[in-house]
Amino acid sequence: TDSDTADEAVRATCDDASTCKRFATSKGYWTDLYVQYFVRQIGERKAPEINRGYYGRVRGMNLLIDAFLKKTRCDCQVVNLGAGLDTTFWRLKDENIMPKKFFEVDFPMIVARKIHHIKTKPPLSKPLIETHSTDSLVLDGHSLDSDRYCIIGADLRDLPALEEKLKKFQINPELPTLFLSECVLVYMTPEKSSKLLNWVAHTFPTAMFINYEQVNMNDRFGQIMIENLQRRQCNLAGVDVCQSLDSQKERFLSAGWESVKALDMMTVYSMLPREDVARIERLEFLDEKELLHQLLQHYCICWAVKDKLSLGLSQIGF
Ligand code: SAM
Repeated sequence: TDSDTADEAVRATCDDASTCKRFATSKGYWTDLYVQYFVRQIGERKAPEINRGYYGRVRGMNLLIDAFLKKTRCDCQVVNLGAGLDTTFWRLKDENIMPKKFFEVDFPMIVARKIHHIKTKPPLSKPLIETHSTDSLVLDGHSLDSDRYCIIGADLRDLPALEEKLKKFQINPELPTLFLSECVLVYMTPEKSSKLLNWVAHTFPTAMFINYEQVNMNDRFGQIMIENLQRRQCNLAGVDVCQSLDSQKERFLSAGWESVKALDMMTVYSMLPREDVARIERLEFLDEKELLHQLLQHYCICWAVKDKLSLGLSQIGF
């Protein structure tokens, strides 16, 4: 059906993200020891502005993730929604800042692929086994559960099923919980994503939600971005919410979140540690500064909190 084709195009986007991350790390933009096990080939060259854009995305997300782990002293959970082939769990393990439990959710087909990689590559499976107390890891084609890491096949648009699966794998709603969605909500209708944000806000009294996606899409450059995705049958069903930073914030406030901040990536990029930015800007010559600026102005990070336990989550920022 049409909707199967649409979902298939959306699923394919996780390879794009990881392929770009793989390429940028091969150039030295940042270190990721694990992405190579999910994407074998370095692949064709990416333009310097794309690499810098991914650098800002990964550094920006990581700064907020690490700040949440610090505030909660790792006495928390992380739920990565639409995780794709993301490697954050392995980074946190190596840096000794693992949450109590790290959950990942994606379509069953993507999850099956990720589980296959984990099963067949010791550098991926070893950290799971090391942090697991018994001999038995729960493993079937569509989910994997260990003490500290769990990956679940589910459709984020089907909340009853999502809730049931998270419960089955012992999510604790009372524990401070960090939700991540990196280039995910934009593929869902505004109605579906707002239901998801609502459900999180009303189920987890102490929580933070970090969303990375397109913004300022109602100009010429935004139009070209949309056309490029449509050419690959990839429908940005949620693009209506990507009109402005205010509309990004409003979706969280109307879903019941207490406070919310949003910055475009141009601003985030300018707030990243100067020495490291200077280092990566020397890696590749960038001819067209204007193109990078355009790109950065069309993505944002938005983060919202609910803080029943009064941990000071609203202080988290750049
Ligand atoms: N977050 C990862 C990253 O940034 O590297 C992957 C991003 S990729 C652009 C989008 C991911 O969201 C894909 O893996 C896709 O399968 C997943 N996704 C989109 N809609 C989803 C849905 N309704 N249910 C589950 N996963 C979904």
